[in-house]
Amino acid sequence: MARSTVLIVTPEQTRSMEVDTRLLAWLRPLLLGLAGATVLLTAGLGALGWHYLDARTANQQALQARRQEIDTLRQEMAALKNATSSEINAKLATLEKSEKMIGDLQAYLQARGVNVKPVSAEPPKGRPNPAAGGPVSAASSARPIMAYTGSFVRDAGNLLEALQSVPLGLPHDGAISSRFGNRPNPFTGKGVEFHGGLDFKGRIGQPIQATASGKVSFAGTQRGYGQVVTVDHAYGYSTVYAHLSRIHVKPGQRIAAGDVVGLLGSTGRSTGPHLHYEVQLRGERIDPERFLALNTSAS
Ligand SMILES: [Zn+2]
Repeated sequence: MARSTVLIVTPEQTRSMEVDTRLLAWLRPLLLGLAGATVLLTAGLGALGWHYLDARTANQQALQARRQEIDTLRQEMAALKNATSSEINAKLATLEKSEKMIGDLQAYLQARGVNVKPVSAEPPKGRPNPAAGGPVSAASSARPIMAYTGSFVRDAGNLLEALQSVPLGLPHDGAISSRFGNRPNPFTGKGVEFHGGLDFKGRIGQPIQATASGKVSFAGTQRGYGQVVTVDHAYGYSTVYAHLSRIHVKPGQRIAAGDVVGLLGSTGRSTGPHLHYEVQLRGERIDPERFLALNTSAS
């Protein structure tokens, strides 16, 4: 056993003592190790704490960012909802306007005495169609879809304006007594004369309506025509209302389709009360019957 002598000096006495040197050899590294471990542990704990704090701050920042993101998304969603509903409302308003425009068109045509025939007529089911034929192909189940362009209202508005600007329908609701073209002299029943308008039977004093909107270009007496009103319309058209008993408009006056221009009479070269009605295109007289109804084939 390795032993060494240790001299212990105190104020009272001095004595020597034998100590096991192996114990000292053990104790030193143990203490050193313990100190080292303590330092390491302290550093580790510090680092861990720092890391924890760091992570907590990062988490809080991330959480804040998420909250902001959610808020932004919420705002965007609300804006989108508003935009969508306002878009839908705008579309609905446009459709409503379109419906009203179509209603106006129909009312206008009806008021003008214009009978609009459908473009295509489907024969009643279960009955043979006497006027059909042609090559046969499989029935198509696809329905045509009209693309919504948004210009419908404008187009319909233009259409209505165009319709109102050209002579259309009846100036007077009476039977036709003389057509456009060559005819025998109405006074003698002999010979042939050209009749440049359409005659309607009627009673004196019945209202005569303009067949289109426009501007009165003449209102007075003319040889042969008697008391007569001429109205200029768009697209080079003008209309003439002759043999009137009374005139209700003045030259230069703007009138709307359906306005009363005067009253039926028998002034001028006339065999009896009637309206002589002319339609002119760029000054040339054309058959007014072509303008009494839509879809009539031009003669
Ligand atoms: Zn006539």
